[in-house]
Amino acid sequence: MDFLRPTTWAEALAARADRPDAVPLQGGTDVMVEINFDVRRPGALLDLTSIPELATWERAADGRLRVGAGLPYARVVAELGDALPGLAQASRTVGSPQIRNRGTVGGNLGAASPAGDAHPPLLAGDAVVEAESAARGTRLIPAAEFYLGVKRNALAPDELIRAFRMAPATGPQYFSKVGTRNAMVIAVCSFALALHPAERRVGTGVGSAAPTPRRARAAEEFLAAELDWTGGAALDARVRSRFGELAAEAASPIDDVRGTAAYRRHAVAVMARRTLGWAWNDYRKQVEACA
Ligand SMILES: Cc1cc2nc3c(=O)[nH]c(=O)nc-3n(C[C@H](O)[C@H](O)[C@H](O)COP(=O)(O)OP(=O)(O)OC[C@H]3O[C@@H](n4cnc5c(N)ncnc54)[C@H](O)[C@@H]3O)c2cc1C
Repeated sequence: MDFLRPTTWAEALAARADRPDAVPLQGGTDVMVEINFDVRRPGALLDLTSIPELATWERAADGRLRVGAGLPYARVVAELGDALPGLAQASRTVGSPQIRNRGTVGGNLGAASPAGDAHPPLLAGDAVVEAESAARGTRLIPAAEFYLGVKRNALAPDELIRAFRMAPATGPQYFSKVGTRNAMVIAVCSFALALHPAERRVGTGVGSAAPTPRRARAAEEFLAAELDWTGGAALDARVRSRFGELAAEAASPIDDVRGTAAYRRHAVAVMARRTLGWAWNDYRKQVEACA
């Protein structure tokens, strides 16, 4: 197995184009497990860890954050907790400290597992994936169009993920995950909610309850129309309950070793109701503070 170690982004793109058999390697917390278990034996590994800009983030001219594919979860938690609270909450639940020090959001996107914890908050926050190839340059792929199937994403064979772009939160964001224990656990299912008060919009992401992470669009539209964005009036119990039902309807889960489809549907509804309760409480406090 060849080991390719570019030190610039241009070299990495060239190597990706030259060696279609090379598997990109960021933190290696998915790739190395697969190699150790002989799930795959690629002709080459394309190690991206010597490209410094991949492990940085910046605020772009349009105010959005541009977060390098190689920024580990630990730094998302430490440095982006205020700006991207939903993603930071999800990052806190990933693996263990060791995994959070190595594992990256870029790697989660590359793996595109339906259970990946970064996906629901990326969907709820309207993230856009920045993909690039030597031949065609940069392509921006909305998160909602990025996940194509179980562990399949929209990257072309010669593309790498350079970064993702996401606006800093302007309203409350929450992430909730059900697992069979409290830590070091793959999600049985998960749910992310983001309120976007400026546009009176709601974002959602459902994880591990369908072949791909996905938004619960009917739930988003229903809630956006029902919320009292101006006055911050208390939530009607019927609104909470209907939001939960619509979120569950967006799921198309399977029975597997981690949980049954029926349990997952139920849990998605519960998480949707709970995250809504937490987010709306925060929002009401914001409205009160501004009054
Ligand atoms: C013990 C353990 C616990 C875990 N717990 C969790 C958990 O709780 N939640 C969770 O979501 N995941 C978990 N994982 C899985 C893994 O940590 C995450 O998916 C992580 O985000 C992978 O990031 P990485 O940088 O290590 O990716 P890598 O292993 O380096 O790569 C993952 C995939 O992405 C591709 N890739 C990497 N970088 C790029 C790039 N720039 N462009 C294109 N493709 C790229 C690789 O080729 C590979 O297919 C766990 C793994 C382990 C071993």
